[in-house]
Amino acid sequence: MGGEQLYDILVIGGGINGCGIARDAAGRGFSVVLAEMNDLASGTSSWSTKLIHGGLRYLEYYEFRLVREALMEREVLWSNAPHIIWPMRFVLPHHKGLRPAWLLRLGLFLYDHIGGRRKLPPTRTLNMRRDKAGAPLKPLFSRAFEYSDCWVNDARFVVLNARDAADRGAVVRTRTKVARARREDGQWTAELEDRVSGAVETVKARLIVNAAGPWVDEVLATALGRNSVDNVRLVQGSHIVIRKKFDDPRAYFFQNRDGRIIFAIPYEDDFTLIGTTDHDFEGDPGDVTITDPEIDYLCEAASEYFVEPVRREDIVWTYSGVRPLFDDGASKAQEATRDYVLKSEGGDGEAPLLNIFGGKITTYRRLSEAMLEKIEGFLGRKGAPWTERAPLPGGNFPADGYEAEVARLSADFSFLDKTHARRLVRLYGTDARTILGKAKSREDLGQWFGADLFECEVRHLMGREWARTAEDVLWRRTKRGLRLSKAEAATLDKYMRSAGGDASTAAAE
Ligand SMILES: Cc1cc2nc3c(=O)[nH]c(=O)nc-3n(C[C@H](O)[C@H](O)[C@H](O)COP(=O)(O)OP(=O)(O)OC[C@H]3O[C@@H](n4cnc5c(N)ncnc54)[C@H](O)[C@@H]3O)c2cc1C
Repeated sequence: MGGEQLYDILVIGGGINGCGIARDAAGRGFSVVLAEMNDLASGTSSWSTKLIHGGLRYLEYYEFRLVREALMEREVLWSNAPHIIWPMRFVLPHHKGLRPAWLLRLGLFLYDHIGGRRKLPPTRTLNMRRDKAGAPLKPLFSRAFEYSDCWVNDARFVVLNARDAADRGAVVRTRTKVARARREDGQWTAELEDRVSGAVETVKARLIVNAAGPWVDEVLATALGRNSVDNVRLVQGSHIVIRKKFDDPRAYFFQNRDGRIIFAIPYEDDFTLIGTTDHDFEGDPGDVTITDPEIDYLCEAASEYFVEPVRREDIVWTYSGVRPLFDDGASKAQEATRDYVLKSEGGDGEAPLLNIFGGKITTYRRLSEAMLEKIEGFLGRKGAPWTERAPLPGGNFPADGYEAEVARLSADFSFLDKTHARRLVRLYGTDARTILGKAKSREDLGQWFGADLFECEVRHLMGREWARTAEDVLWRRTKRGLRLSKAEAATLDKYMRSAGGDASTAAAE
């Protein structure tokens, strides 16, 4: 990439919003460069509850616009990425003293009817004394409501958007920080700092999109030299992962006495994911970690419901993220709006800057379209909206075709374990074949790193998905970190370091 090159758009941030915008813009014919200071999805976008959901809870705050848009996106996103997104049923137990049954029914009626639901099954009522869902719970409930939303592998969602953006011509630079940007002759001149080598490179762009998530204000203050920026409210949310507490594909939606809610979700076959918390955060979002009171809160809240208590020693992994919520002046963190706000400045000879405040993973595609409309207002129109019916890489099979895809892969690569085949299709969809190539036996998959992780997959992640470190592979591109020992992870790290040169050049192509 030459320093003199002029791009239409410089996107700051490789989370779901930055990658979604880069993809949409590249597909419309704009020239795009995206800079991400760490790994793709290393910010908020891989620390979510991983739901493509309308947000039943937001109805209580009258966020009808957001809920409707989000509900409508569920089936759109599922059909564009059926490998990493799938329907999930949620069991919401009801007992007296919490929200009344009529209110839950009304909320779920709206949920079923305002959001263009076609394929997802509607709400039903469960008898908790008879339904299997009642078995792992204390006998507090006679009734529950069961409703639909979708699950998403959030980190892969980001990477697949970046892949598609790159396949359509965008330049994606990871470990590259936008250190400074200034306006010059109606354009932006930006300094991109390579965080591995320290090298600084200058690029020019006609417009900047600031999609830095929880760092959006910091980018305004430090890279763009603004005084007193205070647009987002940073709200920490943490999750714990424990060995699985129940054997059912459904998730639980528990109401707590304090009015908050937590989810307990089947996770990575053998685990249960429990979260989340909601409290204001100060400091660098990159340093966020779960606090002791959060661990206690999540263990206690879940133990109120499960027969078998959730104890600290059950926890195998935790993660925390910071929501970059638009500061609407709400008094409690959980009441701050989850909707997104786009603000533009510049034009009339001054290079435009477009900032994103807030947003959900669920609404990233609609946010990107709204952003493209603004971009076209400044740069002129190049192409029509196109992402509504456009599969992400590997997602070119029917929404309900996962099992058939697994069966095809297992038939063509008969040496694969069933669980391995299932995992590969879940992560890579039809691209699983590209990873396996001409392999005829396990030996052909290359070096074995532990669990079912082999060299051919790691090489794919390095060459096509910008993975540079073992952490990128183990905790974002895959969740093999839950299965590999420390020694195995160290071997992977060593392997990736020695292959690193190849990885960075291949990934930047
Ligand atoms: C606990 C929790 C649970 C959630 N659950 C859900 C859910 O279930 N469903 C849902 O739809 N949403 C959920 N969300 C919300 C969702 O995760 C976020 O809204 C979304 O991920 C924000 O994406 P983003 O791209 O704006 O920000 P990020 O993912 O944070 O991306 C911003 C990126 O910008 C980069 N960056 C910053 N400064 C610079 C710079 N100077 N140069 C280059 N790069 C830079 C950062 O490294 C970062 O990767 C949840 C959020 C949290 C915290």
